[in-house]
Amino acid sequence: MEFLIENGTIISMGKNGIIRQGSVVIERDEIVDLGKADYIKHKYPRGYERIDAKNKVVIPGLINTHHHAAMSLLRGYADDYPLQEWLEKWIWPLEKHMSKHDIYVGALLTAVESIMSGTTTVNSMYHYFPEENEAKAFSEIGLRGVIGHVCFSWRKDEDKKALEDLARNWHGQANGLIRVSVDPHAPYTVDPDYMVELKQIKDELNMKYGSSENPIIWHIHVAETKDEKEKIRQAFGINLKNGIFSYLNSLNVLGKDVLAAHCVWLNDEDIAIIKERNVKVSHNPVSNLKLASGISPIPKLLKAGATVSLGTDSACSNNSPDIFETMKVTALLHKGVNLDPTVMNAEQVLRMATIDGAKALCWEKEIGSIEKGKKADIVIIDFNKPHLCPIYNEISHLVYSVKSADVETVFINGKLVMEKRTIKTVNVKEVMKKAEKCRERLLRIVGK
Ligand SMILES: [Zn+2]
Repeated sequence: MEFLIENGTIISMGKNGIIRQGSVVIERDEIVDLGKADYIKHKYPRGYERIDAKNKVVIPGLINTHHHAAMSLLRGYADDYPLQEWLEKWIWPLEKHMSKHDIYVGALLTAVESIMSGTTTVNSMYHYFPEENEAKAFSEIGLRGVIGHVCFSWRKDEDKKALEDLARNWHGQANGLIRVSVDPHAPYTVDPDYMVELKQIKDELNMKYGSSENPIIWHIHVAETKDEKEKIRQAFGINLKNGIFSYLNSLNVLGKDVLAAHCVWLNDEDIAIIKERNVKVSHNPVSNLKLASGISPIPKLLKAGATVSLGTDSACSNNSPDIFETMKVTALLHKGVNLDPTVMNAEQVLRMATIDGAKALCWEKEIGSIEKGKKADIVIIDFNKPHLCPIYNEISHLVYSVKSADVETVFINGKLVMEKRTIKTVNVKEVMKKAEKCRERLLRIVGK
C-alpha cells in the first residue's frame, strides 16, 4: 500500500526538524519523502491513500526499551507489597504456571495496548518457547519488537537451545519487524562464567544470523535495587569492592550492543563506564517508583553523554506500557528530586522515547525518526482537543499534556495497524476474551 499523510505538523526528530503544514509519503514499508504539504501535493498529484492530518501532530512511533510483554496477564494480581514478598509470595508462584499459550496471549494484549498508546517498537525480555511465543504475537499484530529469551544460571542447557531456536527462527523475520536478543536476567541470577558465555553466545549468533546493520543485542537488568551487591555475594560468594558496572566491565561483557535496564544504584565510576563502553540505558521510572527501588541518576547519565532511553517494565510493576505517561513521569521526577526544572527539557525526554530508544536497540538506521529511507513507523495524534489547546509548542504538549487515548492512527513498517483508534490486524475484544480465559485458568491452578 502507498499512503500520503497530508497537512499535519510533523515532528521528525531528525534532520527535517518540525514541518508545519507538512506531508509524509509512504511506499511499501518505507518513508520515501516528506516536506511542505504544497510541495508534496504537487510532486505526488495522484495515487496514494490520503490521510488527512489537519489539526494533528505526526511523530515517529514511540519505543519502549524494557518490557516483559507476556506479564500483562498478571496486571493487578498483586500490588503494594515489599519487593521480595511481592515476587516470592505472589508473582513467581502464579508466573510459574504460565503456559506457552499464556505467554502468547499476554504478548497479544501488550501489542494491542502498545499500539493504542502510540508505541511501535517494544523490547521484551521473557521465556521463549518455539511453539507459541511473544515474537509470534507481535508479528501477527504487526508490532515491531526485539524479543529476548531470559537466561538464568539454573537452566543453562535449556537457555542455549532456546536462544539458538529464537535467533534461527525469528531474527530479521516478519518483513524485518522482529529482531532478537540474548538476555542474561541480572548479575545476581547469572554467575560470572555464564555471563561471559552468554556474551560469546550473542557474538556467535550474530555471526550466524545477524549483521552490523541488524545486530542481535544483549539485554540485562542492572543495579535495579540497593541490595544488588549483597545478592551477588549471597549467590556467588563474590564481594564487589566497586559498583555493578565495574564488575561487569571486569568480565569484559560490556559494549555498544548492551542495553542495561534500570541502572538505579550507580556510582560515578559506573556512570563513566557506561559512557566509555557506550552501554545503552533503559530508564523505567514508573516501575522503579512502584516497587520503591529508588531513582536512577538520569541527569548525571545525560551529563556524561550516555544514551538514555525509556521503558515501562512489565504490567505487574507499572501497570501499563504507556510511554506518554513514562515521558511525563521522567520529566517531572528528575526536576522534583533535583529541585531543578532545567535538569531536562521536553525535547530531551521526547528524544529518549524516539531516536535515543532506537539507538538503545541499535536500530537507529531504520527507526526512531521520520526521515527519507527510514521504515514507516508513524503515529498521528489528534491535537484538536481542549486539553491540547492553545498550541504554543507541540513538543511541550507531547510530553506534558497528550494522553495516550489521543493517539488516532498508527503505521508500523508502512502498514496501517490502527486507524481512528481501530486496530486493523486483530479483533481486540477477542484478545481480551482470551486474556480473561488465561486468568481464570491460572487462578484455578493456584486455588484462588
Ligand atoms: Zn524488567
